[in-house]
Amino acid sequence: MKKLILASNNPGKLREFQHMLEPLGIEVLTQAELGISEAEEPHVTFIENALAKARHVSKLSGLPALADDSGICVAALGGAPGVFSARYAGGNPKSDQRNNEKLLHDMQDVADRRAHYYCVLVLVRFADDPQPIIAEGEWHGEIAHIEQGNGGFGYDPLFWLPELGKMSAELTRDEKHEISHRGQAMRVLLQRLRAE
Ligand code: IMP
Repeated sequence: MKKLILASNNPGKLREFQHMLEPLGIEVLTQAELGISEAEEPHVTFIENALAKARHVSKLSGLPALADDSGICVAALGGAPGVFSARYAGGNPKSDQRNNEKLLHDMQDVADRRAHYYCVLVLVRFADDPQPIIAEGEWHGEIAHIEQGNGGFGYDPLFWLPELGKMSAELTRDEKHEISHRGQAMRVLLQRLRAE
């Protein structure tokens, strides 16, 4: 595989995947560079959404495609916000601040604060690839009672890591990558690609 298309237009994600795949001699382009529109994410599971995005891009580009999907799942909320993490509080444009406020509100008076981040990466070599490469990562913590820290994004100011005594928004970028759901999934993907 010499080239793959990232089914995302997020510049941060593009940089991370380019950095990871460059040593394997794989060039990473975004779907926007090929003029491909974003796919719908209508499914109730992360894996189905990621697979739909990867397939859509591979079908339209004729090239291998890589998609990710991620979110936070809170035990006491039955796994919500889950696949709706980015738009939990609704409204347009989506807002991390409003999502965090809604999560705090929903967790008022809830004693069980357990939550985890989940990330899945799906790589299809071609649109109808019967055996996509799938890499997952999970990162466990708790929902705090107040926001703290300026790093990361999304729910990081509320994601408490008891073993570290810190919020994930208080980790450096490298510290977070070492242990996060996305970092774990990326390392699994890299191993799988090295074995291809
Ligand atoms: P997507 O996978 O880019 O669609 O992201 C889904 C949503 O999950 C983000 O908008 C965040 O709300 C949440 N999320 C996923 N990963 C993280 C993380 O590492 N920190 C904080 N929030 C995250």
